[in-house]
Amino acid sequence: MSKSFSIVTEKYTPKKKKNLALLNFIKPLISGSSLEIIKECSTFLMFASDETLEHKKQIKGNSCKNRFCPVCAWRKARKDALKLSILMKYIQAEHQKEFIFLTLTAPNVSAEDLDNEIKKYNQSFKKLMERKEIKSITKGYVRKLEVTYNQERNDYHPHFHVMIAVNKSYFNKPTQYIKRDKWLELWQQVTDNPSITQVDVRKIKQNNHKEISEVAKYSAKDSDYLINENVFKTFYKALKGKRLIVYSGLFKTASKLFEEGEIDKYKEVDTTEYIYALMYSWGKGKYVEDEKRKLTEDEYRKLNKKLINELEIE
Ligand SMILES: [Zn+2]
Repeated sequence: MSKSFSIVTEKYTPKKKKNLALLNFIKPLISGSSLEIIKECSTFLMFASDETLEHKKQIKGNSCKNRFCPVCAWRKARKDALKLSILMKYIQAEHQKEFIFLTLTAPNVSAEDLDNEIKKYNQSFKKLMERKEIKSITKGYVRKLEVTYNQERNDYHPHFHVMIAVNKSYFNKPTQYIKRDKWLELWQQVTDNPSITQVDVRKIKQNNHKEISEVAKYSAKDSDYLINENVFKTFYKALKGKRLIVYSGLFKTASKLFEEGEIDKYKEVDTTEYIYALMYSWGKGKYVEDEKRKLTEDEYRKLNKKLINELEIE
């Protein structure tokens, strides 16, 4: 991290500006009171920081929690990334599994077909996991839906990122191991679409940050859905109410344990020493620092030597 890095100006400010851009697009689709909550999102932020003021963590703030809010989606992705990393550590350590990473795609679709295509994707995926070759090696999976927009062609690209837990022996047993071409063949069969050519499958290595990011990051990029009103409406209608991330098998068990705080031993302790409290409010297109003070003794105790609950992602 560079000396001059400031999470407020470099992360929160551009996200808050995009949150305001969202207002015009989402206005015709929601109630006035819901709109007001999104508008007020993160207008107040409180951080704890270390002596140098370089390391900050948000400790309070008003958030709208809307799926399309760039501030809230970013924070949720960071939390999901940390969660996923802990689930993987637990599954690896206590169930002796390893992981493969699968990306399933199909040809792009127009705006009017997107909603249906996502429903079809869900059904095809279900069929895929029921195939005996795959069912017998899958000990659990986490699946994320992502949709990207191609501005040049004005079409949409839904796809799945899937992390699958497998036995360690999977990679050495030719009777179990599924080659890339076989994954493609099975995916073509369950989608009933022989024209699909793109399936990517790989073993997840120890340094798994890239794959974790793929699963944890937003289902749609704000740079895509904030392009114009029509594009936003398409994304909104296609993603609203849909389950974007699905945990199954060992990942489902692990997810429950995680939420209950039962696998906290896999989390790391935050070694930053938090000393200051910083308050910001949003006004005239930027965050203004309203107050900087030392943490009270009580705050200091509550904020230091705690477990890390977020993972940095782009
Ligand atoms: Zn928000």
